[in-house]
Amino acid sequence: MGFLDKLKSFFFISPGTTDPVYTIQVRCRRCGEVIESRLQLQNDLSLQEDGTYIVHKTLMGNQRCFERLEVTLTFDKNRHLIDRTVTRGEFIEPPTTEETHQNG
Ligand SMILES: [Zn+2]
Repeated sequence: MGFLDKLKSFFFISPGTTDPVYTIQVRCRRCGEVIESRLQLQNDLSLQEDGTYIVHKTLMGNQRCFERLEVTLTFDKNRHLIDRTVTRGEFIEPPTTEETHQNG
């Protein structure tokens, strides 16, 4: 299996980094594999005529399933994500680390 191990290997953005990185995590609908990819927000964004940025990525897993997941991300002029689509898969939201634990 090893599926849960992959789920644990989340990537965390260091607050001190100078190059903003956006991590994509998608799950293949066909085999369930989680595929990760990182975008360099400084380099990978393509400016469009309307002032927004777009990124297109084709992701493939390492397993025998050779499904290609076509990811398209749209960012506004401040490089904030405003839209995202993925074919043949689904986005995975990284788990929040800000869990609150109540005593009692
Ligand atoms: Zn797959």
